[in-house]
Amino acid sequence: MGGASVTANGGIQVELGQKRYALDPHSHVRADYTFVSHAHIDHMHSPSKSERIIASPVTCELARARGYELGDPMEAVEGVELLDSGHILGSRAIRIEDEVYYTGDASGRARAFLGKCRTRQARILVMETTYGSPEYVFPSTAKLVKDVNALIASAFDRGTPVVLMGYPLGKAQLLSYFFSSWEPIIYHESVAAMNKIHVEHGVQLKPGPTYDPSKKHERLPRGPWVMVSPMSSGRSRLMAHLKKEYGAVLVAFSGWALGSGYRYTMGADYSFPLSDHCDYQELVKLVQAVSPEVVYTVHGFAAEFAQDLRRMGFSARPLAAYQSSLSDYAETRTR
Ligand SMILES: [Zn+2]
Repeated sequence: MGGASVTANGGIQVELGQKRYALDPHSHVRADYTFVSHAHIDHMHSPSKSERIIASPVTCELARARGYELGDPMEAVEGVELLDSGHILGSRAIRIEDEVYYTGDASGRARAFLGKCRTRQARILVMETTYGSPEYVFPSTAKLVKDVNALIASAFDRGTPVVLMGYPLGKAQLLSYFFSSWEPIIYHESVAAMNKIHVEHGVQLKPGPTYDPSKKHERLPRGPWVMVSPMSSGRSRLMAHLKKEYGAVLVAFSGWALGSGYRYTMGADYSFPLSDHCDYQELVKLVQAVSPEVVYTVHGFAAEFAQDLRRMGFSARPLAAYQSSLSDYAETRTR
């Protein structure tokens, strides 16, 4: 059997032997198997009836709650191994034979109820490189939680409510988990819907009242509270309302918070670099653990990170700019 070829046409495609695999395609792609790594919207599509989907059962459940029907997924396919990628509940990396390892979105550190990305050696690594630039090195989660607790404590001393913002699937559940000691803790309805599925899967999240801003007359208590809400600009109607009406302090959570200007761009009062992705150092470690002959980078600093890997002696390229087969590439590799 010849080596795999990896291309980027409407998502990532792998051909190995007689089989074609579509990895996180944005729309239907002809393939023997379609892999859905996790239930974030930018990694899903609405598959046709005939597609054979590889995904974890939790990903399918979360997808369904968000309006994507993945049908009956397959977890056990010959030659295919799914590994926890540590990104969100149910997220998986995929290894096809010992040829290709694709991370999907991946985290390099255990936090709360999530583990870190598990790796296996493979000849070809296809990896996300969202934060593939050296300035993105995240602080320890323990320190971040401590700092945020101090911030909430000082707001509570003043009688001021605090809104903790992160994307509603993944980040919002970590925020719900880390800051559950505060009372009352209120969940935006889109966060509550995702929390419910986590609780059903054994994640211990404290119950609390739900806030649905579309219900016009819904009132929040006076005095301090914590709300976990989807990421939204401080200039959005909801956040402007919470600020004006309740004097709420807005706190945004994202890896991008390490960049200057993020807090201002978001119109938030504070921002913290809590991420569900690998930071730069974790990306490098991931490459070393997989020990590949060839690396393809996707997302974020794909070109920059590939360049850094080449300096370290790896053979690496951003996938979007490279659509030829790997047998061509093998001749030019530097390692
Ligand atoms: Zn994701």
